[in-house]
Amino acid sequence: MAHRTDPAAIVVDQENLIQGVAKHFLQKVYGPEGMPWGTKFSELEELTAQIGQAVSRSMMNHALANQAQDVPEHAENCGVCGEVVRAGPPELRIVATTVGPVRWEQPKRYCPQCRAAFFPPVPRTGH
Ligand SMILES: [Zn+2]
Repeated sequence: MAHRTDPAAIVVDQENLIQGVAKHFLQKVYGPEGMPWGTKFSELEELTAQIGQAVSRSMMNHALANQAQDVPEHAENCGVCGEVVRAGPPELRIVATTVGPVRWEQPKRYCPQCRAAFFPPVPRTGH
């Protein structure tokens, strides 16, 4: 399984895909003729920034939703007493990020022994 964690290296590796996606968005927005003469630089900047942020949010939403569907086996036991936990209804999580809010359904577990509800670990915010 590919599991590189250096974002700068991943961007270099994916350069062709990024170029292709960028051209695709420009064609979708401006058509085959390209950006019309007279378009303000600031309009182009705002458009590309918003598309970039939307792509980033979408990547985060998909990654977090997929992870929430695949709770690791070790999270099916209570971290305190080791009892097998029960699945509860997931809770909607919304987190503010540098690219806007991202959201996902966070899986919830309940330990009948400890009478405590908890959430299996997710990527921590911050560093
Ligand atoms: Zn417990």
